[in-house]
Amino acid sequence: MSDPSIRKIVIVGGGTAGWMTAAPLAQRFQQAGPHGCEVVLVESPDIGTIGVGEATLPPIRAYNRTLGLDGADFVRRTQGSFKLGIEFRDWGRVGHRFFHGFGDFGPAIENRSPWQHWLRLSRIVDGLPGYEDWSTSTVMARGHRFTPPVEGPPSAANAYSFAYHFDAGLYAAYLREYALARGAQRVEGLIVDVELRPEDGFVSAIRLADGRRIDGDLFIDCSGFRALLIGGAMQSPFEDWSALLPCNSAQAVPSARVEPLTPYTTSTAKAAGWQWRIPLQHRTGNGHVYCSHFISDDEAAATLLAGLDSPALDTPRQLRFTTGRRKAGWVKNVVAIGLAGGFLEPLESTSIQLIMDGVGRLLQFFPDRSFKPHLAAEFNRRMSVQYESIRDFIVLHYKLTERRDSELWRYCAAMPIPDTLAHQIELFREAGRVAVLDPDGFAEPSWVSLFLGLGLVPERYDPFVDHIDPEALLQHFARLRQAIAQTAAGMPRHADYIRQHCLAP
Ligand code: FAD
Repeated sequence: MSDPSIRKIVIVGGGTAGWMTAAPLAQRFQQAGPHGCEVVLVESPDIGTIGVGEATLPPIRAYNRTLGLDGADFVRRTQGSFKLGIEFRDWGRVGHRFFHGFGDFGPAIENRSPWQHWLRLSRIVDGLPGYEDWSTSTVMARGHRFTPPVEGPPSAANAYSFAYHFDAGLYAAYLREYALARGAQRVEGLIVDVELRPEDGFVSAIRLADGRRIDGDLFIDCSGFRALLIGGAMQSPFEDWSALLPCNSAQAVPSARVEPLTPYTTSTAKAAGWQWRIPLQHRTGNGHVYCSHFISDDEAAATLLAGLDSPALDTPRQLRFTTGRRKAGWVKNVVAIGLAGGFLEPLESTSIQLIMDGVGRLLQFFPDRSFKPHLAAEFNRRMSVQYESIRDFIVLHYKLTERRDSELWRYCAAMPIPDTLAHQIELFREAGRVAVLDPDGFAEPSWVSLFLGLGLVPERYDPFVDHIDPEALLQHFARLRQAIAQTAAGMPRHADYIRQHCLAP
């Protein structure tokens, strides 16, 4: 019987998704030795990449570790900085701020989350400090401190996690170098046609404008919003979620670096959308995400420039998108990774996460040339769960806000939401409990940060916390708060940490 293994993989597109896919594939197949397979990436400089995508979530560290990338080298090469979470400004209401940090609210007390105890105390103690005072990442962020969590038993020094901000172009170049060094091939050219096998409609080859033909067994569509293979050749329908996530445009502009170097992303709600601020070593990344039905492009650009905290280094660049996802990201021998598979807007920095998880699942359910349909079905099922749970999490920001001061916010107040999200909101509102519907998605502390940060105070809390003596609990919280404050105060400033640990020879 002939060997059914995949012998050649063609990656269509060399943006962040293309190179984030090529790097682990090249690594695997280099390790596989003579049983490996060819990895070929095709990209067109005439088309270019989207070039934004600078904020990430903590699992990026596991992705980098799997590739064997060194954290300090990575930060140096990508002009990166560290991210402890996102500060949301003017989201719940104008003038209000809260922090969605990576980490939890400390160890459980009598088997119950500390924030449940905080909820109870907040009803009986006047002037109780906010729940964020028990989040190490929040306290570090306030002081612009950073150091990685220490190993050891749970304590204030490790009750947090972190991700990175980086220059997307430098990151793709870094991974390109990595993939090429491990045998991946890069082809420059404009794809103009896709050949399908007449017997089953599988892709057999792509054709370039100069006449070259590139065949393969497995095709990975990383062609961005164009979705050349998954949308074009495979005709996988796009599920449009604009009714739930109405922002459809962005203006992006870099500005000068500012001090202090914040170890977090900032998201400031605006009349027709929101503005991001991402601190890097050599510049600050800024963008205004907005709904073009409620503001003109010129006004959106002016809003962006007016909201900068340092001089712009360029003129704003405009981007358009439609939020939603491909109903099936894997069809026949085509798998979509990155924007070709969907886009949910960048409010919680989830796109690169979706790329990593897409690649991870492709490796987990990697086919042979028989392409057994249940592999694609399981990949599609898991991607679906993830897309929907991230969608709900992002919609939550727009839905729970008390803002009604512009057309966008009034639209969001009136908009119907998915039953899954309605259930999660009502469960918290009625009973102070959290439903996490995707075990791989945002965990309970993230949902709690958003619910409380956006101003949803539950009517009840977990009754099991009632039997603890409130005085003892108050003392415990006071000690914990002090430990967190002291630990954070003893950490280096974010910019100093980078200078000493990532840039020093
Ligand atoms: P692209 O970068 O568009 O790459 C497409 C590739 O396909 C290019 O190499 C192009 O040459 C190639 N190609 C296309 N057509 C052809 C053809 N005919 N022939 C040959 N080659 C072709 N994500 C985050 O995780 N965090 C963020 O903070 C974040 N912010 C964002 C802000 C905005 C406004 C937007 C729109 C997105 C943001 N994202 C963010 C998403 C992130 O930018 C993308 O997920 C990421 O860049 C991956 O893009 P991609 O590689 O799928 O597509």
